[in-house]
Amino acid sequence: MTESTNYATYENVENTLSANRDDLRYDWSVDEVTDLFKLPLMDLVLQAQLVHRRYFESNKVQLSKLISVKTGGCPEDCFYCPQSGHYHTDVAAEKILALNEVMKQAKQARDEGASRFCMGAAWRNPSDKDLEEVCAMVEGVRDLGLETCATLGMLTEPQAKRLKQSGLDYYNHNLDTSEEYYSEIITTRTYESRLETVNYVRGAGINVCCGGILGMGEKRADRAELLANLANMDEHPESVPINMLIPVAGTPLEDQPRFDSIEFVSTIAIAKMMMPASVIRLSAGREKMSDELQALCFLAGASSIFVGEKLLTAPNSGPTRDNDLFARLGINRDERAVMGS
Ligand code: SF4
Repeated sequence: MTESTNYATYENVENTLSANRDDLRYDWSVDEVTDLFKLPLMDLVLQAQLVHRRYFESNKVQLSKLISVKTGGCPEDCFYCPQSGHYHTDVAAEKILALNEVMKQAKQARDEGASRFCMGAAWRNPSDKDLEEVCAMVEGVRDLGLETCATLGMLTEPQAKRLKQSGLDYYNHNLDTSEEYYSEIITTRTYESRLETVNYVRGAGINVCCGGILGMGEKRADRAELLANLANMDEHPESVPINMLIPVAGTPLEDQPRFDSIEFVSTIAIAKMMMPASVIRLSAGREKMSDELQALCFLAGASSIFVGEKLLTAPNSGPTRDNDLFARLGINRDERAVMGS
């Protein structure tokens, strides 16, 4: 077998893309996505950067800050999560943060250059009382000129509408992986329930932030299905976080081997090619990535990162390293949200 019969051809991909230059596609088959994974990395990265530049300014990366407003003690059993109450980890259950503490952290994030402030809570779903506290946080953070995002677990339709009324810009609810592999990493809820919340969020007019985690023991076919499920939604999620698993001691995935970097970059590139108008977010796992790997991810179309020393309860690249990396790569932060406030 020659090399060329092993790979889908570069021209095929180019034809697929150019034939749909002005149209976003919503009809990806898993086989088609699997074929993209067989392309040489350089072809994938080149195509992804070209489509990225059709929709976004080059060399700009948006900065978000993610804080935990309610840590630990979660009744869900996500195998990757140290905040689950099912596992013995270093993360202790805490009460919801006071509004003034959230505001203090939001001001600091704005001063450090973040344009979006994301608030995460370790709940299966918020009670209506909890939701009112989060709505007050959303209103306060928006008044600082920051975009707002929340990730609070499952929502009812009226709760999604209430969040919209408070001014919430984005709601994060990840699909994590393929539908088939989902029950291997979470047993306390279903894929269908994830999609239901995403639909409520979309229906309420809130931007959708929805992506997945790589390196949980899933197969390439699961990654292909995840991307197809995201890209085949009625509208592409505006924001697509691609996370690399951070194995945490005490969780069922603590001994998971480090995920292959090249497969990670390929997944980012394919996500960008399939959802070119979406912001692909280089999310968890950045702290352990080399500068060169992060640069490849930006080349593959990632254009958003989380800043700060912490990502919920996990360590994250700090501002010194990020500022230095951006300066060396000639990347500027995307300030649209703050400037537009
Ligand atoms: S729902 Fe969120 S906080 Fe709860 S265990 Fe899963 S990932 Fe962790």
